[in-house]
Amino acid sequence: MRRLAIAVPLALLATLLATPAHADPGPLKVPTRQGYGGAVTSVDPYASRVGLRVLKAGGNAVDAAVATAAALGVTEPFSAGIGGGGYFVYYDAETGKVRTIDGRETAPAAMPRDAFIDPETGEPYNFSPELVTSGVSVGVPGTLATWQRALRRWGTLPLDRALAPAEVLARRGFRVDATFRGQVKQNLERFRAFTSTRALYGRLPKVGSLFRNPDLADTYDLIADHGPRRFYDGALAREMVRAVRRPPTTSSTQLPVPKGFLAVGDLRGYRTIDRAPTHVEYRGLDVYGMAPSSSGGSTVGEALNILENHDLAGATPEQALHLYLEASALSFADRGAYVGDPDFVDVPLDTLLSDEYAAERDELIDPGSAMTKPVGAGDIPDTENVETTNLTVADRWGNVVEYTLTIEQTGGSGIVVPGRGFLLNNELTDFSPVYDEADPNRIEPGKRPRSSMSPTIVLRDGKPFVAVGSPGGSTIITTVLQILLNRIDLGMTLPQALRAPRATQRNTAAVLAEPGFVDRYAEALEALGHDVQTYEDIFTGTQEIGAATGIEFGPGRLLTSVAERDRRGGGSALVVRPR
Ligand code: GLU
Repeated sequence: MRRLAIAVPLALLATLLATPAHADPGPLKVPTRQGYGGAVTSVDPYASRVGLRVLKAGGNAVDAAVATAAALGVTEPFSAGIGGGGYFVYYDAETGKVRTIDGRETAPAAMPRDAFIDPETGEPYNFSPELVTSGVSVGVPGTLATWQRALRRWGTLPLDRALAPAEVLARRGFRVDATFRGQVKQNLERFRAFTSTRALYGRLPKVGSLFRNPDLADTYDLIADHGPRRFYDGALAREMVRAVRRPPTTSSTQLPVPKGFLAVGDLRGYRTIDRAPTHVEYRGLDVYGMAPSSSGGSTVGEALNILENHDLAGATPEQALHLYLEASALSFADRGAYVGDPDFVDVPLDTLLSDEYAAERDELIDPGSAMTKPVGAGDIPDTENVETTNLTVADRWGNVVEYTLTIEQTGGSGIVVPGRGFLLNNELTDFSPVYDEADPNRIEPGKRPRSSMSPTIVLRDGKPFVAVGSPGGSTIITTVLQILLNRIDLGMTLPQALRAPRATQRNTAAVLAEPGFVDRYAEALEALGHDVQTYEDIFTGTQEIGAATGIEFGPGRLLTSVAERDRRGGGSALVVRPR
């Protein structure tokens, strides 16, 4: 019944989106909205609007999250899309339980352990351009399978309905903003290195111009009509394989573009994995995160457990930040030593998330002086071997989705599947480049590279309190951790917690921080022995860390929907019934 009831409003939505876009300067971006009846927040105003309309038409949080993600594949194609993977975290209001789907990319079955070693030199390929812009870094995509799994498990819409608004958006077009243009600009050389990518993204679009992607609209349409099997098998699968094994390079490109190992059997065999979430208690709250193959839940969780030994609320901001940086470094050391795909390595998750282990790690922290970095991993016996985007959705029934999805680098591998309108990921660069038996993140066929994505849902007395996530590679972990501390311990509202300047300590000699953080805290932290440097993204040159979204669940069912105000050009936070 509900499916039928939703079909009509969605058709209306399609018509609405189909009104000529030149009459529309593009939807407004609002970083914070409060209200009732459901909320959607993402980095993009078109995508958030799609999600909101699904909620208004009676869809639940899962329906809206998938529709929003599909729209992000159109308007944020350099961060997310069906050529990539991600992690879907869901709070089910009926059962009160948090559940997750691991939709991470996998290494092809034929991938050798020395795949990232240049046969000519015997040395690892450079990370960029060789490894990033390549077929060899393309993992089997998991995003479409994730959407299908999430809808089947918890949604009310079939996949074709959830894809419909994004298909219209791709066909009718959207207005280019400065962020989209900037991302094309930063990638122009490699986008022009492939005939397929050159055709779609090879020209610098003007801000305000209409951008259409009819090939992607057709691809969504094909999948809507025939199901994900049309993606994981048949002509489209063969075309992906060809693009990876014989990348469609232009005759003029100087880029090396190493070939990859993907086969149709890898696509056919791809499965998402239903996983139990990680869980830690923090100051009476229950914090749920993403278990391995992501290191997000274990690393955020370990750091929180360490920090629970300290009274952050009673500390000065500088003291609290000192402890935050030290706890981050310690948990990053353990991440490096112990976390990888649990189907391949024995991850001591219970120990990493135990209070006893956190207390042991905490003994290394000196409140008056920073440890020398890098710090060593803790001793855990009994183990054998040991630019992305985020969205948050809540519905009127109290269900919550926190979903981080990615194609890894901004622009992924740079390879658009010819005629299909989407970029393939370069997720396998998240593996360690050099094979080492002791490294839990070594390359192995069929394995999922270790991620840092940290979609997180916090419950208070069994009910949602805050949901939050962010892109940003391994800085995701510290961004989510810092937002949680800002909100839970340091007296900030959720919008303030997102806006506050960020710093990241991933067990390296220097703390890397946004300019606003450096201005405010560098002097005090340097007095404690930290070396605070300004963060700069090696690809984009930006000095921003992350692009978070979050929702807070207040008294009387009040929802505070929050996106970035400034980072990545600002995001779009919406609610069904504004206050
Ligand atoms: N590939 C990264 C990860 O899975 C995410 C990339 C990003 O956020 O930029 O951890």
